[in-house]
Amino acid sequence: MNLEAPAQDNLEEGQETGQEADRNVDASREPRGFDPTRPVDKKGRERQRYSDEELAERNRTMADLQRKIREIFDRIDGEAAEAAQIEEGLKTSPAVPAEFIKRIAGDERGKEIISGIVQKNFNERWEEWGQHEIQKTESEKEIIKRVEDVVDEMVVRWGGNPAPLPMENVYVIKEGSFATMEWPGVRGGCQGRRGKIAVERANDSRYEFANVFGHELFHFKSYKSVTSVMVGPSERKFGLYRSGLRMMDWKNDPASPDKKEYFGLLEEAIVSECGRIAMKKMVADPSISKEAHANERLKQWVIRARRRQGAPEEMLAAIDREMDSVPEAERVMREIELSSHEEEERENRALDLVDRLYKEGKIGMQPHRALREKMYGLFSRIVRESNGRFRNQEEVFDQFARANFTGNYLPLARMVESILGKGSFRKIANDFADEGEGKAA
Ligand SMILES: [Zn+2]
Repeated sequence: MNLEAPAQDNLEEGQETGQEADRNVDASREPRGFDPTRPVDKKGRERQRYSDEELAERNRTMADLQRKIREIFDRIDGEAAEAAQIEEGLKTSPAVPAEFIKRIAGDERGKEIISGIVQKNFNERWEEWGQHEIQKTESEKEIIKRVEDVVDEMVVRWGGNPAPLPMENVYVIKEGSFATMEWPGVRGGCQGRRGKIAVERANDSRYEFANVFGHELFHFKSYKSVTSVMVGPSERKFGLYRSGLRMMDWKNDPASPDKKEYFGLLEEAIVSECGRIAMKKMVADPSISKEAHANERLKQWVIRARRRQGAPEEMLAAIDREMDSVPEAERVMREIELSSHEEEERENRALDLVDRLYKEGKIGMQPHRALREKMYGLFSRIVRESNGRFRNQEEVFDQFARANFTGNYLPLARMVESILGKGSFRKIANDFADEGEGKAA
């Protein structure tokens, strides 16, 4: 019996790579300097790359897809009814925090088998990441604890019951390790069904470490359920069925390459936005505050230099929102300060430097910009059509974050359908379905 389906895990890029950025820079038309509004997001581009033929093929499969979605949404109602029974399997797994996997679905035999596997996976060292592990420094351990406090506080506010993450389930790995696992450009990953997180140590930046770890931790803290499916007369596979809003369609073979993860890209966008909010809370923390201050100062120099060049306000807002960190920010800030007493000159130097590092892929950027923008677009539509029920996107985001961390779709589905109309929740599930293009991102 094959009990191990290929992992359905979230592997993340901590920053966009230089190659991606370069491909989209049209130097002849762009004003000089750093501009994160240029389309550099891998997903944003991939999604526009379908040929007419592929589009036609996608349309042909749409009827089939709609049927599958209908079945899955019928299941949502079933889930709510079953909710009272869901903790059962967990009580036999005392070593796994009861909050980690909220629900074990499937037939009775499947539940029994899975609860054992979940516990084993959670406790066991995982060598695929373990072989790249380097010893955590004291300051990394401190950051891990501090970030977890901030993240838990947010998750609780959204109604979640966050599972503690044991220190040994966090792997700090050597820079470049993900590339050897065929995940180039990735800085951190969350192995959802094993309850493991890996973060590459890069540039000795505490700030970037906190940033990448925080993002992965939100994946870990998202509502989780697992299920098993029979994929043959005696073959059973098991895997995550839910991670936050992300809902895997396991009906057939979980390893099937054409499987879909409804809301998958929305979960990614929600987690990214949560990470952004968490870092705003973290910047005052003594573990990273000096570096955060230097990053902020460099960013404000860049913004002022770009403003003097006449860059539009929305671009400046995007720099403010998307630019995270500069390698060796404290040293770089001091050097620029010493290089001139003129603020304008400092601003220009900062812009030149950041622009060059950005093209080399070395500026830490908020992940998944294109996905977040797609999500903000949805939120602004909801605000617009809500007849005053929502005043701003943040209020809508709260509802989505709540569903992501409690696992409860129903209040969200009702809210969305009462504003955007019947069937709109299913449409969102499909519009934000992860069909594989999100895998390496
Ligand atoms: Zn992610």
